[in-house]
Amino acid sequence: MDGRVEVSREGKYLSTLSGAKVLGELAILYNCQRTATITAISECNLWAIERQCFQTIMMRTGLIRQAEYTDFLKSVPIFKDLAEDTLIKISDVLEETHYQRGDYIVRQGARGDTFFIISKGKVRVTIKQQDTQEEKFIRMLGKGDFFGEKALQGDDLRTANIICESPEGVSCLVIDRETFNQLISSLDEIKHRYDDEGAMERRKINEEFRDINLTDLRVIATLGVGGFGRVELVQTNGDSSRSFALKQMKKSQIVETRQQQHIMSEKEIMGEANCQFIVKLFKTFKDKKYLYMLMESCLGGELWTILRDKGNFDDATTRFYTACVVEAFDYLHSRNIIYRDLKPENLLLDEKGYVKLVDFGFAKKLQTGRKTWTFCGTPEYVAPEVILNRGHDISADYWSLGVLMFELLTGTPPFTGSDPMRTYNIILKGIDAIEFPRNITRNASNLIKKLCRDNPAERLGYQRGGISEIQKHKWFDGFYWWGLQNRSLEPPIKPSVKNVVDTANFDDYPPDPEGPPPDDVSGWDKDF
Ligand code: AMP
Repeated sequence: MDGRVEVSREGKYLSTLSGAKVLGELAILYNCQRTATITAISECNLWAIERQCFQTIMMRTGLIRQAEYTDFLKSVPIFKDLAEDTLIKISDVLEETHYQRGDYIVRQGARGDTFFIISKGKVRVTIKQQDTQEEKFIRMLGKGDFFGEKALQGDDLRTANIICESPEGVSCLVIDRETFNQLISSLDEIKHRYDDEGAMERRKINEEFRDINLTDLRVIATLGVGGFGRVELVQTNGDSSRSFALKQMKKSQIVETRQQQHIMSEKEIMGEANCQFIVKLFKTFKDKKYLYMLMESCLGGELWTILRDKGNFDDATTRFYTACVVEAFDYLHSRNIIYRDLKPENLLLDEKGYVKLVDFGFAKKLQTGRKTWTFCGTPEYVAPEVILNRGHDISADYWSLGVLMFELLTGTPPFTGSDPMRTYNIILKGIDAIEFPRNITRNASNLIKKLCRDNPAERLGYQRGGISEIQKHKWFDGFYWWGLQNRSLEPPIKPSVKNVVDTANFDDYPPDPEGPPPDDVSGWDKDF
């Protein structure tokens, strides 16, 4: 069209149009009455297309668009392994949207129901800092990159801002939650998107600790005693502003109990993990008698000590600690790592009161779809399939999560006998044979029973929705997962930690009565 027209409805003026505009498409597309009146207000030249022809053109352009989208999706690295028909399905449902420079495509903290792939332009990712409220720049994303999956995987709140950066604007293909869950969420690239960041963080740590040797470490006090030796609080000679936990393990004892493989896997898994709910391993050392692991120190003490002193925790306190473990399991399980040693002794509080998993002596990386058979764990926490030697996998961790909830709420684990054999017998009778004290709420006992199913495949967390099924359980209703993840949620118990060498939250340990172990120079630990 050229010229000017006026748009009105029932005599009321709506707008004026001029230049190359399209008119009248709605009635044709939807087969309805004209939705507005158009009056020429100047000399006008119009091109008209009748309905049949218009629809054919639209259909063709629809097909062309579908083919274009499919072609584009094929070029997107995360979709490289998807079948053609899946790509076509995605093309059919996606919508293309456009943004102008400076537009917030996604706003941190908002609810999110969509997943985005950038088809044109660049966006900036920022995260609001908790303390200063300033937006910190994280990275740029461009054509073929995606964002928005985090809100669709866990809680539905956006975890970052995405802002249109290109002066000429940005186009995104937008996919809804249902399509994302059905076709996209299981892709490895989606699950492990943040691994790069983990590797970068690791390199930084290696660099930072490159020049630190055993002789630079000064022992301040003993934090705990583990299976193979002591864990000492240490500082480096040059820096009194930080402290570390140094775990020393007697090589001869590791060999006697045939735990060599487990120790190597502990080092590997902890060394690679980059999760705020898992204690960080900074560096390892060895000498003739010991292996050493230099870790982040968690001075809030063991959850076990707090539980012992308090007797039991209320629902909200238990929920917070359980949620920390769920986050740690989410991290490990999505990498097919099974933890196998959950118990309050292995949960340490940092100075803020957040809980972290420590002691990865039984953790193991499984091959996809495979099981493992080693009998290990603490009697009260082992799953029935471990006792029955049927082979177990990450679902054994969900069993132990139910046991942990019960112990935190009541002060004692549900399955306890006077010796391990009796405990195993009670475990094999199942959770339904256990009486739940009245202070366990209905929602909590419902979740415990769903975690402690005899049949591993029936356990909550191990089914289609994965661990998010646990996060969505009624017992967690209203729990602020995003606040937990960004550490803005106030922990239920704030430990008193006066300075970086305050060990008041730990019990006292007498010196090792056995004295130093014999040398072991056989070389089995060459890769440690
Ligand atoms: P483990 O041999 O790893 O089970 O450690 C034995 C005990 O030492 C733990 O139960 C804790 O009490 C203490 N411990 C281990 N690692 C740390 C750490 N990173 N920070 C503070 N205490 C720790």
